[in-house]
Amino acid sequence: MKIFQCGHCNHSIFFENYTCDNCGHLSGFRDQDRKMLTFNPINDSLFSDRENIEYKYCKNKEYDVCNWILEKNDPEDYCHACQLNRTIPNLSDLENFEKWRNLEIAKHRLVYQLQKIGLQLPSKLRNNEGLCFDFVAQQNNFNLMTGHANGVITILIKEADSVQREQMRKQFLEPYRTLVGHLRHEVGHYFWDRLINTNEQILSEFRAIFGNEQRNYADALELYYNEGAPEDWQTSFISKYATSHPWEDWAETWAHYLHIMDMVETAYFFGVNVKPINKLKKMKAKVSFDPYAIENFDTIIQTCIPLSFAVNSINRAMGVPDVYPFVITEAVVDKLKFIHRLLLPKRN
Ligand SMILES: [Zn+2]
Ligand SMILES: [Zn+2]
Ligand SMILES: [Zn+2]
Repeated sequence: MKIFQCGHCNHSIFFENYTCDNCGHLSGFRDQDRKMLTFNPINDSLFSDRENIEYKYCKNKEYDVCNWILEKNDPEDYCHACQLNRTIPNLSDLENFEKWRNLEIAKHRLVYQLQKIGLQLPSKLRNNEGLCFDFVAQQNNFNLMTGHANGVITILIKEADSVQREQMRKQFLEPYRTLVGHLRHEVGHYFWDRLINTNEQILSEFRAIFGNEQRNYADALELYYNEGAPEDWQTSFISKYATSHPWEDWAETWAHYLHIMDMVETAYFFGVNVKPINKLKKMKAKVSFDPYAIENFDTIIQTCIPLSFAVNSINRAMGVPDVYPFVITEAVVDKLKFIHRLLLPKRN
């Protein structure tokens, strides 16, 4: 993600902030051009002197879960990200506030990225081809699971509880489990329906790379949960779960594509230059480009590997898990390239 800055004092501002920590001016994110705007805090109005336009916050600011802005005369109450919410957690349970906040942080970052790629995100609440989110508690309904079906992304809110999520991560022997990871994975299924399943040519290219998705899905998952991944899974797949079915391989690889693009974009905005003192082979990277503007995916991957090696090492210095605990093999790179080729024309 890019770096945001206060328009009043030039101090850096995080994507989620409502105010500048340095000067106290109000801030809000305008998604049309991905800019953080700064407003005078004296009166409560969000009036932009520079543009002579008055804005309002998305209605979800009431709950401290959204700092996106709309023009004051916009008939909508909610921003483009919050218009995608179909079900939010039950707020009579106070513990759900924090979980919802965590979910919204991840969801807003997801929407930022998909918009940057140039993907359309109509809300399913108005357009049946669209997308929506159900953030729900499982309670006694154990059939309710995190997943995607026909444009509805369901996320169990227990995933937003870091203790429970870590328990699940260990139970499923996963190296990485995060909210943004879940969202990136599930939205991958949605875009499979939109981008692959709608085009014969693309579908046949998909099958050549990921395998035939007509294989019975329920049987494939049952087999995976009974027998696990094949021993040599790492040569062709980004994760064990990706081996279960071509749809899951797609969604896992799609999520990694979004992980990689966001890491490299962030490094670009920080001007990160990885140049190890002891001249390690292939471990130099100067992130001098915005990955979303680059045609050749090899350039991106050759940057991402030294970058994640450096950041993983910094994390280890602090005793926290690796930021990117995965190995990207040639076969996985080919899958990532297919996604990159598919998405490039979306960028205008
Ligand atoms: Zn400021
Ligand atoms: Zn919003
Ligand atoms: Zn999936």
